[in-house]
Amino acid sequence: MNETPDTDRRRLIALAAGTSLVASLLFIRHARAADVDRFTLGVASGCPRPQSVVLWTRVLGPGLPEQVPVAWEVARDERFTDIASSGVALAEEAWAHSVHIDVSDLAPARWYWYRFNALGSRSSTGRTRTAPAAGASDALQFAIASCQRWDHGHYAAWRHMADENLDLVLFLGDYIYEAGPAPASARRVRQHEGNGPVKTLQQYRDRYAQYKADPALQRMHAAAPWIVIWDDHEVENDYANDRGDTLDGDFLARRAAAYQAWWEHMPAPAARRPRDADLRIYDRYDWGRLARIHAVDDRQYRDRQVCPRPGRGGSNTVTPKDCPSLRAPSRTLLGETQERWLADGWSSHHGWNLLAQQTLMARFSWSDPSLRDAPDIPGGMYWTDGWDGYPAARSRLLGSAVERHAANLVVLGGDVHANYVADLKLDFDDPKSPVIATEFCGTSITSEGLAQARIAAALPFNPHIRYGRSGEHGYMRFALDAKALHAQLRVLADVLDPASAIRTAASFTVEAGRPGAVAA
Ligand code: FE
Ligand code: CA
Repeated sequence: MNETPDTDRRRLIALAAGTSLVASLLFIRHARAADVDRFTLGVASGCPRPQSVVLWTRVLGPGLPEQVPVAWEVARDERFTDIASSGVALAEEAWAHSVHIDVSDLAPARWYWYRFNALGSRSSTGRTRTAPAAGASDALQFAIASCQRWDHGHYAAWRHMADENLDLVLFLGDYIYEAGPAPASARRVRQHEGNGPVKTLQQYRDRYAQYKADPALQRMHAAAPWIVIWDDHEVENDYANDRGDTLDGDFLARRAAAYQAWWEHMPAPAARRPRDADLRIYDRYDWGRLARIHAVDDRQYRDRQVCPRPGRGGSNTVTPKDCPSLRAPSRTLLGETQERWLADGWSSHHGWNLLAQQTLMARFSWSDPSLRDAPDIPGGMYWTDGWDGYPAARSRLLGSAVERHAANLVVLGGDVHANYVADLKLDFDDPKSPVIATEFCGTSITSEGLAQARIAAALPFNPHIRYGRSGEHGYMRFALDAKALHAQLRVLADVLDPASAIRTAASFTVEAGRPGAVAA
């Protein structure tokens, strides 16, 4: 709790005299109130560091006072006989009665169990762990996941992931989708609640509550710590910085509501509670000396997409000839400050640099890039919302990794609802340009992708892409040690079936010192 904002701390101190008794009573079953489950959205943890981790829950149910004291416990054992840390936090109505505990003074590289008590109700138990100490060489088992659109399927993927005994989950964006309920003709397995797209703080809160009520998702949150970054649908499809896709309404007010609701529902640090329309989520996490994880935000600070369709914001698919501004060298996806922060953070003394970001980084042309209208204008056809819409920024990023001797860079992404494995190069058009990094862009948990025929038709234009498959849903599972990264593309048999089986569709290995994925 060392990072609790002062106002909270003062309130806690004021409450302390009266609540030290209350706090201890919170663990005693209350005759009537205990009938109400106050933790229906489960528990979560995140941001693991050698001595700290963030715990999350949210108090719900009828008749909540403006402030609810929530007792929390962290134990070294599942039965809570050996308590490592405990305290009381205030869940406040202004923040959707969410609770964010920055637990410190923990031991590195070990598992902990945690739970909450409020209003006579006890939460389920979550399991979390700390990162290894600086210099430790522990291995890392982790998964990447993204894009869990509620009405496109069931969350069998989370149930399977919870059985994989992972140390860490990297969630790379599209935790919720803002769309309203689908029209009757387009309805599938389950529906979004509400009417029309989500726009207000209350609507965003309700949407998170709908998603987070899912037991499989809750189970994976309770199984390991997560590092969470967002993409566009946590606010609006294809938004860029201060501009939305539809161009209607007060976009920055909508963004502020969306960011607040995101913070309220994620295991994000208490100290990061939003104070205005902005919210910093990018950060760096070290896993001993094995890996440095850079988690970035490609939405909040980006330049607007070039050449949008008339009367719209958002993405388009364009040629460099018809959209010359595509190649403008000043264009940025991460924003100048974050770009510099990333470049300054590349590590040459960790075994690996893992870049947790939102979307496909490899160049993906939808037409033959060797067909040029003029020698000085590149060929090809590109989607403007991803890195292909910001090619100068991509070159700067990859160039900085080379220049700063970033060890074994592996780029991790999501967003495109298909599995991609790719070689990253400084010049994708030059077959002789060396492979400098490896990319794993994982498919969606549920969200529907493009037809595989379209991807298959474009793959020959993009020979650096080793694997590209739509129609697959699930996650990528990784085992990382000093020598190699082993990847398994875990794919559901049927995303519409909550009890779906899962299989490994493909496996790849990246050897330390040899960028590029090799089919295993
Ligand atoms: Fe998505
Ligand atoms: Ca997206």
